[in-house]
Amino acid sequence: MLKIGDPDNHNITLSIKNINMQRRKFIQNTTFIIAGLALLSNKTVAEFLADPAWKIKMLTDNVGVFTEKGGTILFMLSKDGIVVVDAEFPEQSQHLIDELKKRSGQPFRLLINTHHHADHSAGNIAYKGLVKNVLAHSNSKINQQRVAVEKKNEDQQLYPDQTFSTLWSENIGGEKLNLHYFGAAHTNGDAFIHFKKANIVHVGDLVFNRRHPFIDRTAGANIASWIQVLDKADSTFNNKTTFVCGHALDGYDIVIKKDDVKAFRNYLSSLLVFVKSEIKAGKTKEEILKATQIPGAPEWKGDGIDRPLTAAYEELTSS
Ligand SMILES: [Zn+2]
Ligand SMILES: [Zn+2]
Repeated sequence: MLKIGDPDNHNITLSIKNINMQRRKFIQNTTFIIAGLALLSNKTVAEFLADPAWKIKMLTDNVGVFTEKGGTILFMLSKDGIVVVDAEFPEQSQHLIDELKKRSGQPFRLLINTHHHADHSAGNIAYKGLVKNVLAHSNSKINQQRVAVEKKNEDQQLYPDQTFSTLWSENIGGEKLNLHYFGAAHTNGDAFIHFKKANIVHVGDLVFNRRHPFIDRTAGANIASWIQVLDKADSTFNNKTTFVCGHALDGYDIVIKKDDVKAFRNYLSSLLVFVKSEIKAGKTKEEILKATQIPGAPEWKGDGIDRPLTAAYEELTSS
């Protein structure tokens, strides 16, 4: 060990000098790094502040998806006016309306609800006095009215002024719009909204991409029927069809293909098979609810497995 006063003292001095130089360099560099970080974070903050909470992704020249909070919105700009499918919440709808007004001088021709749930229809009210017609399946309108009466928020609703039962068809702005109703599923009023020429279909909550679904039995949901509904969708739409779904698990897209629809159909049938076998094995509802995965559908992860398990249990034990 070297001590001060040793013949090799100068080496220590040199070393200290060296350390001091390195320290100065370090401080300089660090200052640069901190300044850089400050600049970077300032820029990020500025960008963050300028960046809206919502996102628009165009799927074709005139058809796009809007996402912010709630079920995905699909819109079409056309020479015969703007068509919007679903409305999220009032604030979100206002964001979309403001943006679409910038992108098109055309009026709002039609607002369609895939079904009545608030994350798809609460924003309807933002279109009051703005859109020519509001359209949904007849059961969707009935459900929306019933829930609004229950929640005492009828004044915050804009109800459909047009409804359909099995098929609704109209040409708007060179696009052919088909609305299909294939039966009870996520509710008893879910429609497929098909933009035939673009071959894009908004499926609302008829498909949850890799996310455990909400199954609204208070609004007539039925899992066995839901499986048949997806089979009908399978024969109605083709392999080139682009599907837009209301919700996806974080990290998964809301724009999906037919294979994803089939995977969700498989999830629902696996769910029924699993719960049926558990009931047969004498398990109680509480024991069944302890499952953390649906056997045969391991891709469905995240929160909320209790919802489908409960719905399946009730459906299988109620009849
Ligand atoms: Zn939803
Ligand atoms: Zn829903």
